Amino acid sequence: MNNHTLANRDLAVLWHPCTQMKDHETLPLIPIKKGQGIWLEDFDGKQYLDAISSWWVNLFGHSNPIINAAIKVQLDSLEHTIFAGFTHEVGIKLAERLVAITPAGLDRCFYADNGSSAVEVALKMSFHYWRNQGQRNKTKFITLENSYHGETLGALAVGHVALYKEIYEPLLMDVITVPGPDCYHRDSGESWADYSRRRFAIMEETLQQQAKSVCAVIIEPLVQCAGNMRMYDPVYLSLLRTACDKYHVHLIVDEIAVGFGRTGTLFACEQAAISPDFMCLSKGLTGGYLPLSAVMTSNSIYQAFYDDYQKLTAFLHSHSYTGNALACSAALATLDIFQQQNIIEKNKPLAAVMAKSAERFIEHPHIAEVRQTGMILAIEMVKNRQTREAFPWQERRGLKVYQHALSKGVLLRPLGNVIYFMPPYIVTEEELWLIADVAWQGIHLATQD
Ligand code: PMP
Repeated sequence: MNNHTLANRDLAVLWHPCTQMKDHETLPLIPIKKGQGIWLEDFDGKQYLDAISSWWVNLFGHSNPIINAAIKVQLDSLEHTIFAGFTHEVGIKLAERLVAITPAGLDRCFYADNGSSAVEVALKMSFHYWRNQGQRNKTKFITLENSYHGETLGALAVGHVALYKEIYEPLLMDVITVPGPDCYHRDSGESWADYSRRRFAIMEETLQQQAKSVCAVIIEPLVQCAGNMRMYDPVYLSLLRTACDKYHVHLIVDEIAVGFGRTGTLFACEQAAISPDFMCLSKGLTGGYLPLSAVMTSNSIYQAFYDDYQKLTAFLHSHSYTGNALACSAALATLDIFQQQNIIEKNKPLAAVMAKSAERFIEHPHIAEVRQTGMILAIEMVKNRQTREAFPWQERRGLKVYQHALSKGVLLRPLGNVIYFMPPYIVTEEELWLIADVAWQGIHLATQD
């Protein structure tokens, strides 16, 4: 068994996510045989440093001994059971722990099985809450430009990245899209905080005018990940919390990508000291092992659904794999690692090394910006640094960086022309320097003509 034979078998029967399959006529598909720590190994024995945490899910490495052991123990007692009418110990324990570690007031946990479905749950719950309160006019959602919340139709509707959304527009519900605080667009010399505050005025005005028809504002806190890792200041979130309260609109915070330490705190919301009405969690929740998501909400929202069955106020949403026991056991082991190894503190020097390793990019003639929030660092590759003119997307310069990095044994997967580092937290200083070196060479090659 080698890469070539497996890739051929794959291409005869499989259809991969987020891929123009024709690309694989020239771009080899890479069959992975095993993962160990930060390294993935293919069937030809070549290794790749997983610098993007396998689509931002992996926190503590592949084949992590602690998570492996927890799943093995769980496997011998219960793999999965229906979660309506039935429950299990790991599901209860995980909910108790999520209630304890998420911001104050998030006292209820509803499980789903992936990020997009958590977003669907939060949207439906918010809408349904207002219905149960007799508020039938609230049917809309406010979202930000450049946001991303998943691929199912509801989640896609509240997202804004044209590449994923545009073609499906005729199928999508109408949403109110507000210009956001993406600090890449701030004036020169303007601070992130000033720009974020300035941009909030548009949100405030929108809320003031439209709150009566709005269920909730949905937002990715601090980093719009799929929207090219664009970042903003926590002050935007504090202002938004205050305004949502003032105008009686829910705040849905999508921490699917940024939760579990990515922004430097366990949850990004902590940096603004806010509690949302709904918090969506997934990806890192299971350490990158198994699909699971959770929507955290308040007891007062929960109570609005709690009544005699005949009143038909219940939230009848379900997924077959809701609260999967193996996934819950992986999540509990992940939370143990955070606690026992003091990960949030241990990540601080790593984030500083990331910053240091990327200093050389700041003056590069084809780099408009190097930005960082905690353990996420992004490099904006452009045609013209002065005017910030972008390379035409058709040239696929990011793909060249991807290909170069692969040849050097590093898995980087640029978003368009934005190269980013989002490694598992077991990354070493040396590995961070390796990632930066390879990105440097890749950018050099990709911007030569
Ligand atoms: N929200 C955000 C912020 C995300 O980054 C993603 C996935 N990249 C999702 C939702 C959707 O999660 P999933 O891919 O598990 O459906």
